[in-house]
Amino acid sequence: MKCIRDRRLAALVSTMVLGCTALTGGAAAHSPDPVLAGGPFAQNQALKFSWRSGSVPIAAIQTAVKAAAADVGATRGSQAATFTYATSGGNPIGYGLGATCGVNGIACFTRTAPTSFTMWLREQGHVFDWGTMKWCQTYATPPTGCYDAETIALDEFGHVEGLDHHVNYADGSDYLDAVVQTFSHTKPQVGWNMHTFGRCDIATLQRVYDMLTWSAKYSTCNQLSTTLSLVGPASLVYGGSATITATLKVTDAAAYDRLGGNPLTGRVVTLQTRAPGATTWLSAGTMSAGSTSGTYLKTLILTADIQARAVFRAPTDEGLGASTSATATIDVGACRVAPCPMSASARSQ
Ligand SMILES: [Zn+2]
Repeated sequence: MKCIRDRRLAALVSTMVLGCTALTGGAAAHSPDPVLAGGPFAQNQALKFSWRSGSVPIAAIQTAVKAAAADVGATRGSQAATFTYATSGGNPIGYGLGATCGVNGIACFTRTAPTSFTMWLREQGHVFDWGTMKWCQTYATPPTGCYDAETIALDEFGHVEGLDHHVNYADGSDYLDAVVQTFSHTKPQVGWNMHTFGRCDIATLQRVYDMLTWSAKYSTCNQLSTTLSLVGPASLVYGGSATITATLKVTDAAAYDRLGGNPLTGRVVTLQTRAPGATTWLSAGTMSAGSTSGTYLKTLILTADIQARAVFRAPTDEGLGASTSATATIDVGACRVAPCPMSASARSQ
C-alpha cells in the first residue's frame, strides 16, 4: 500500500503506519527491497489489467497508470511480470469511493500470485485526517503537495511483483534507490515524480525473477560473489598451442535465489601467466568470449612450462565481486626438432 508521509500525524495514523512498516524479510537499511509473502508471478508473466466496473479512473489517472505499467517494462531489469491495459484484462484497477485501502492509504493493492492482482487509487479531493488528496496529473500546473499518480501506481505495481518497502538509511540519503517506499514524497520533495524502479527495487526483482540475458547488468544494490574456474591442457608438446578456458559465474549461493550459478557473459576476464616458481604474474591479455555462456578463451603458443590463472575485476557499474581462478600448470615437453633454443635443448639432456 501507499502511505501518507506526514510524520507529524503519526499519532493519528498509527494503525496505518504499522501496517506499512511491517516487513517480512527483516532487511537491513539499504539492502535490496524485502520480499512480500505469497510468492512470485511467473517469469515474464504478461498481466493484463482493466478499469474496475463502476470505479473507472478519470482520464488523467488512466494515463498515469498506463505510464506506470510501461515504466515497469522499461526498468524492471529482470524477468519480472509485465503489465498492460486490455479492455478484457482480468485484473481490475479502480479509482474512487469504493477503494478498499486503509483509512489513510492513498492507493493499495492485493496480489494472489501467480493468478491475479487488484489496485485502487483514491479519488481526487478525498478528505483524509491529514488533508485533501491532490493528484498532480489533474492540474495544468501541479501544486506543491500533490502526489504523482504514475509514481504511486509504480509503487503499487512493485508490490504486485512481490516487493515490500525499501528500508532507507536513517537520513534518507538513499531515497532514490527505490520507488517502492513506505512514504512516497509529494511535489517537490526528492523522488516525488520518480518514473523508474530504483536500483534496490531492481536488485530484488532480479533475485526473484532472474536476469533478462546473461550479459545484462546486475543491480549495484546487489553485492554478489562470483566464481571463476580455469581449464587448460596439463601437458603440451614443445611449441604447441594451449587453449585455456575460463568460466565465470555468479556464486551458486542459496541466498542469491534465482541468480546463483548464472553464467556471466560479456565481462572482462584477463589471463595471467608466470613461470613455475615465479612470484609475479604477468598479463597475457583479455580473454575472448567462448561459445558457451560465461566462458572465455585464450590460446597460447608455449615453449616452456607455465602457470596460468584467470582474473575478473569487480566492475564499478554492477553488483558483482571480483574473483580469481585457481592456478593451472601446463608442462611443456622438450624441443626435439632443430633448431631448438639452447636453454630448452640443454634442459632436455
Ligand atoms: Zn507502497
